[in-house]
Amino acid sequence: MNLKKQKWVYLFQEGSRNMRDLLGGKGAGLAEMSAANLPVPPGFIITTEACNAYDESKGKFPSYMWDQTINALKQMEVETGKGFGDSSNPLLVSVRSGAKVSMPGMMDTVLNLGLNEITVEGIAFISGNRRFAQDSYRRFIQMFGRIVLNIPGDTFEQILDDCKQRNGLWSDTDLTTVHLEEIVQEFLSLVKERTGKDFPQDPLEQLDLAIKAVFGSWNGKRAIDYRNFYKIPHDLGTAVNVVAMVFGNMGNDSGSGVAFTRDPATGNQILYGEFLPNAQGEDVVAGTRTPASIAEMASSMPNQYRELVEIANRLESHYRDAQDMEFTIERGKLYMLQTRVAQRTAQASIKIAVDMANEGLISKEEALQRVDPLQINNLLLPRFDDVAKKEAIKSNNLLTIGLNASPGAASGKAIFDANRAEALALQGTDIILVRPETNPDDVHGMLHAKGVFTARGGATSHAAVVARGLGKPCVAGAEALKIDLRIRKCTIEGHTINEGDEISIDGSTGEVFLGAIDTIEPIISKEKELNILLGWADEIRRLGVWANADDPVATQRALDFGAEGIGLCRTEHMFFEEDRLPWMRQLILAASEATRLEEELQKLQIDASNTNQSSILKEQLTKQENKVAGSEDVKNFHESLRRFLQFQIQDFKEILGIMTGKPVIIRLLDPPLHEFLPKYEELLVDVTTLRLTGGDPSLLAKQEKLLKMIEEMREQNPMLGLRGCRLGILYSAITQMQARAIFTAACELIKEGRDPQPKIMVPLVAHANELRIVRHELELVAQAVQEEQNVTIHYKIGTMIELPRAALTADEIAPHAQFFSFGTNDLTQTTFGISRDDAEEKFLLKYVEQGILPENPFQVLDRAGVGKLMKTSVDLGRKANPGLEIGICGEHGGDPSSIEFCNNINLDYVSSSPFRVPVARLAAAQAVLTSHQLGLDFTDV
Ligand code: PEP
Ligand code: MG
Repeated sequence: MNLKKQKWVYLFQEGSRNMRDLLGGKGAGLAEMSAANLPVPPGFIITTEACNAYDESKGKFPSYMWDQTINALKQMEVETGKGFGDSSNPLLVSVRSGAKVSMPGMMDTVLNLGLNEITVEGIAFISGNRRFAQDSYRRFIQMFGRIVLNIPGDTFEQILDDCKQRNGLWSDTDLTTVHLEEIVQEFLSLVKERTGKDFPQDPLEQLDLAIKAVFGSWNGKRAIDYRNFYKIPHDLGTAVNVVAMVFGNMGNDSGSGVAFTRDPATGNQILYGEFLPNAQGEDVVAGTRTPASIAEMASSMPNQYRELVEIANRLESHYRDAQDMEFTIERGKLYMLQTRVAQRTAQASIKIAVDMANEGLISKEEALQRVDPLQINNLLLPRFDDVAKKEAIKSNNLLTIGLNASPGAASGKAIFDANRAEALALQGTDIILVRPETNPDDVHGMLHAKGVFTARGGATSHAAVVARGLGKPCVAGAEALKIDLRIRKCTIEGHTINEGDEISIDGSTGEVFLGAIDTIEPIISKEKELNILLGWADEIRRLGVWANADDPVATQRALDFGAEGIGLCRTEHMFFEEDRLPWMRQLILAASEATRLEEELQKLQIDASNTNQSSILKEQLTKQENKVAGSEDVKNFHESLRRFLQFQIQDFKEILGIMTGKPVIIRLLDPPLHEFLPKYEELLVDVTTLRLTGGDPSLLAKQEKLLKMIEEMREQNPMLGLRGCRLGILYSAITQMQARAIFTAACELIKEGRDPQPKIMVPLVAHANELRIVRHELELVAQAVQEEQNVTIHYKIGTMIELPRAALTADEIAPHAQFFSFGTNDLTQTTFGISRDDAEEKFLLKYVEQGILPENPFQVLDRAGVGKLMKTSVDLGRKANPGLEIGICGEHGGDPSSIEFCNNINLDYVSSSPFRVPVARLAAAQAVLTSHQLGLDFTDV
């Protein structure tokens, strides 16, 4: 590229909306508004490319960028009739960051740039308001000092507070001109003391440094943290917007505000926002003064309010989405400073999408694409249990009611700084971050906290905006909250809370409680707009959406959330229940010996039936029969099997009954048996103690037997050991019992007039022979039960594909299966050779942080590796058995990106936890829309 010709700087009138990449979102918005003749102050944009070039050259502006900046500045001087650095009519500017993707509050902005000892006098003269001029100057030094010169913000705040205290003043607006002049001098001394240099007086030097600071803030820690969290590429760069200052603090006919074209919390169609008379925009956003609702502007400034409403309507129709606008009124004249797509809560996002489609502003397809499926999770956020909350109120635990800034409810330990909040949360503690107000330096703490609680700030304060974006509850502006950071205590209405005490916040109502409160999940049927949106999704999606559920409660929830089947019922959970565990242990302890004795007997019986019985054989047979009949192990084994049969018939009857008319995939027992036994080390301590203390001999004998058993069953790699179908092949009586339970439950339901659709799934198959053997076993039982009960059951038998060998030999396995279900948890584990349980804690997250892996492959399907195995398996399987039904039941079945992949490789359904069913319904519809947009056919990956 010829650098000479490169254009680094655009006047507003030179840009347009489709230049977001180059001009950033804010710049493109300003350019667009300027083109539409909306009242935008003159200004220009330095491009994101300039930021990247600055970065690459380690802090040098690219050639000609500065010259182009000076030219643009001259143009601004012409348009405003003011001069940059002019003593009588000075032009002041704001220097604002603005990346392509909105990153609210993550990067830096400097206002009032151009002020110095001389121009401040010019401003005083022109405005006729000396106080205003001094106030602007002190704000400028403060902002410039903090952002450009890296002087801690609280050192400036301290000077301000000291002055107020000295003079017995309450708020900033009480400060007189004399006070402000004093403060300015103290600020200037502070700068000299901290930097060793005078505060820069040359406006061009100020501009040079401010642009560099904004470029630099792209690579600031909080911006990087934010991008990592939201997976925003690091190479976009930020643009810099240089805008002529307009002043909202020029008296009572001035003011600043933030407005949303629709309520960003509820989605209701009203102009929503906040307005502060006689204030600059930073006062509204920082939350240092509590603003009034924008509706009040209608009476205090009716003309400007009307104009604002008209502009809001125009912007919304133009962008076809709800907008978030910043505006300033300077001596009665309205200026628009920004418009961007409004961040919103999950509830608002869904309502706005549905309403806009119903209004005809967007299509249903667009509405479906406007909602991030993960936001649906947010909508179904927990809230406090009514009874527990009433109880808390009755016990006087309601501390205060602040502003309901972001919905949801959470309990946790009150922690007063972001670093500590992050550290404790990483250790697994639930945290509520409690701050006077938040600013971008708190974001890492907010990311890890369960909720945020602040003393200051309105619905558009930093805390509120960021918490809404994160889908976390936030109560803001609770004036009763007084925090003393030095002694790490806070008081609320006379209650003292030490750091670490448990509190609960309700971001939907603004209530704050002492202590923890039980939370409950919302009821989906009451979510009107969500159900409309999901209805549209159901019309479009191709994938079936099923759920993983192991008990009747989860099954009912799955059905309520719209699941069309159960894709995985893990039967082992039924064995873990407290009243069943003793029977399970009895079963395991007896299984090996009982199976050995019975198999020997069976062999002798076969031999005896094949030959002319010799007397020796006869004798052996009788001996073995007696052995079996007298064996405690055989007795115990069958007794526990009988028990389990009864338990399991009941379990399956309930689940199949709830899902009547819909498929239910029941997976045979999967985990290694030792998981049901006590831990080896703990038992060893028990036995040693019993031995040393001469404890009860019968108990000792029992525990010793158990210990020996566990010793024998110990495996180096249990996840690769005796589990899955291997277990059922070794102890076929367990497989037979489970099969009998399933078929008996189905028969009983059919006799009651229901329509059970059981599908039996064989886990961890590696070789076709394994499935062949187990299927034969299952079919024998099916036949026996159907004959005994004189009922015909419609059942299917299939397998999980969760080992690479199974995926690669799917053509050999498919003839024995009526369905496949991808167990992508194990398939990921075995493809990567990474143990999920160990790796996530130890190195996997580091891998993701360092970019070695793009995502955690246990959350987002690894398309290139695991996905390739899946695709191979689908192709081979369907070729060998065209009627084969194929789904997924690993965790990935509820992840939007993985669902898109499943759609593209033509699976029949996805199955996930019940809570993710609504997410999956929307994601499956979006997958179809995206594949149409990309022109994919279903077999493209
Ligand atoms: C799987 O491996 O993906 C699966 C669903 O089985 P589990 O998680 O029970 O091993
Ligand atoms: Mg598995």
